[in-house]
Amino acid sequence: MKEIKFYSEPLEMEYTRSPGKLLGEFFVKLRDEGVVAGVRCSNCSYVFVPPQQFCPECSSKMINFVNMPSVGTVASFTVVRKDSPFAQWKAPFAFVAVKYDGANSLFWHRLKDIEGIKVGDKVQPVFKKEEDRQGSILDIEYFEKV
Ligand SMILES: [Zn+2]
Repeated sequence: MKEIKFYSEPLEMEYTRSPGKLLGEFFVKLRDEGVVAGVRCSNCSYVFVPPQQFCPECSSKMINFVNMPSVGTVASFTVVRKDSPFAQWKAPFAFVAVKYDGANSLFWHRLKDIEGIKVGDKVQPVFKKEEDRQGSILDIEYFEKV
């Protein structure tokens, strides 16, 4: 039987991960155009955001980019009320699952103002200033209610 080791101290690891062609283009669109984009399956029209290489419905390759509308709908959320050393934001905030019209999947990000949050709220992304964007999911600072 293998011995299980537990570490109580933080382990830091630096690594580089290539996002691949589709996610790379997704990040370029965030940075350069300030839009959230998904991909549409050319076989069954399923739309996934953020993009992924293969359709979860029919396994066809997904290559056709489609821009999401500027406003989406909160489909689900969880409120974070306690700070964590690993979180990038100070509590309270909410992780929200945003459903865009025309998309079949949900797009997760952060909602800054949680006052009165509920499923069905209309939200839109707030982007960093163009000169501060780096081609990262954090080019969207947060979502805000419309
Ligand atoms: Zn498909």
